[in-house]
Amino acid sequence: MDLNLSASELKFRDEFRAWLKSNIPSDWEKHRNQDEMLDKFEFLRAWQKKMYEAGWVGIAWPKEYGGRGATVMEQVIFTEEMARAGAPNLANVLGLSLIGPTIIAYGTDTQKKRYLAKILSADEIWCQGFSEPNAGSDLANVRTDARLDGDHYIVNGQKVWNSYGWAADWCALLTRSDPSSAKHHGLSYILVDMKSPGVEVRPLRQMTGESEFCEIFFHDVRVAAENVLGKVGEGWNVAMGTLAHERATLGAGVQIVIKRQFDRLVELAHKTMRNGKLAAEDPVIRQKLGQCFTDIEIMRLNQMRAISRINQKGVPGPESSILKVFWTELNQRFQQIATELLGPYATLSKGDPYAIDDGQWAYTFLRARGNTIEAGTSEVQRNILGHMVLGLPKSY
Ligand SMILES: Cc1cc2nc3c(=O)[nH]c(=O)nc-3n(C[C@H](O)[C@H](O)[C@H](O)COP(=O)(O)OP(=O)(O)OC[C@H]3O[C@@H](n4cnc5c(N)ncnc54)[C@H](O)[C@@H]3O)c2cc1C
Repeated sequence: MDLNLSASELKFRDEFRAWLKSNIPSDWEKHRNQDEMLDKFEFLRAWQKKMYEAGWVGIAWPKEYGGRGATVMEQVIFTEEMARAGAPNLANVLGLSLIGPTIIAYGTDTQKKRYLAKILSADEIWCQGFSEPNAGSDLANVRTDARLDGDHYIVNGQKVWNSYGWAADWCALLTRSDPSSAKHHGLSYILVDMKSPGVEVRPLRQMTGESEFCEIFFHDVRVAAENVLGKVGEGWNVAMGTLAHERATLGAGVQIVIKRQFDRLVELAHKTMRNGKLAAEDPVIRQKLGQCFTDIEIMRLNQMRAISRINQKGVPGPESSILKVFWTELNQRFQQIATELLGPYATLSKGDPYAIDDGQWAYTFLRARGNTIEAGTSEVQRNILGHMVLGLPKSY
C-alpha cells in the first residue's frame, strides 16, 4: 500500500485547496453558529450552488450525470481538504452521498434525468425515510404501507429520525408494498415528493438543542407508480445499496476534523488550570492525550486501508464497519477527555460570555452520542463483523 499521493493527486489537491482559499465566504463564521436553522440552511444551499457551478460537487459521480468522474482517492482528498479548510458543508448531504448514488445504480434513464442534476445543484434537497418506531436496527421490520391503486401508490405510515426532513423536497422512502410479506421481502423503495398532500413533518428536538431530524407522517399520500426505484418488492436490495454508501462515506474526513480539535485541545491544556496546576502537567490528562493521539493515527491508517480495498475491489468491504465502530467510539472518548480537561468550562454553551471556543466543546460532546447510533449502531456493526468476517452465526 503506497500512502503517498501521485503527481496527479497532488495537482488535484493543490487546485482544490487554492479554490477553497479564495472562495470560502467571508461571513461563514457568522453563519456557523447561527441559531436560525432555515437561514443557515439557505446559506449552505447557496454555498453548494457556488461549488457546483465551479465543478466541485459530485466529485466521484460519473461525468455523464454531471459529476467530475474522480477516483476514490480524489474523493478522499476532496473531503479532507474541505475538513482541513473548515469549509461549510454541502446542504444536500444525503442526496449527494446516499440517494444520488443509489439512483445512479438503480434508476431508469428517466429517473436519472429527472433527479440527479437537481441533487448536485441543491435545487432539490433529499432526506432518507428508512427508520420507524419499530424498525431501526431491525430495518426489515418496516411497516409503512404502500398500496397500489391504478397508476399510483397510496402511502400510509410513520418514519422517524429523518435528518433534514424539515428542509427536504424529496424523500427516499422504504415501504412495504406487499401487505402479506414479511421481513426482507415485499418492500419497495419509493421516491416521494415532500410537498404531496398528506405529508406531515414534525421536527424533533435533540439534546444539542438543534432539530436536525424529524418524524414524518404519511396520511393517504398519492405517489406515482413510476417513482419506485429499482424493482417493486425488491426495495431491500436498493436500501442496502444506500446503507453501504452511508457507512463508507460517513467517516470520511472525520479524522482531520478530530485531529484539528485535538490540536486545539492540546493548546488549551497549556493554558487551562486543573487541580491547581496546568492541565498539560496533570499525569492523568497527559496519558489520555497520548492515547488519543495514538488512536487518531490508527484511525488514519485504517481509513487508508479501507480506501485501498475500494481501489482494488471497487466496493467497500467489512473495513467500513471497523472504521464506523472505531471513529465513532474514539470521538466519544475524545470528547470525554476534553470535558475532563476543561472542567466546568466544558459545560458552557454558545453565547455564554465565559464559554471557550463559543461553546463548541459542549456541542461536540453531546452530538458525539448520536455517532454510534446513526448509520447502524456499534452493536450492529460488531454483529456484521462477527458474521461477515469471523463466520459467527447471524445475530437474528
Ligand atoms: C443523528 C441521527 C441521525 C439519523 N438519521 C436518520 C435518517 O436520516 N433516516 C433514517 O431513516 N434514520 C436515521 N437515523 C436512525 C438510525 O438509523 C437508527 O436510530 C438506528 O438504526 C438504530 O435504530 P433504533 O433507534 O430504532 O434503535 P434499536 O434498533 O431499537 O436499538 C436499540 C438498542 O438495541 C441494540 N440492538 C438492536 N438490535 C441488536 C442486535 N441484534 N444485537 C445487539 N444489539 C442490538 C442497539 O444497538 C441499540 O443500542 C438517525 C439516527 C441518529 C442518531
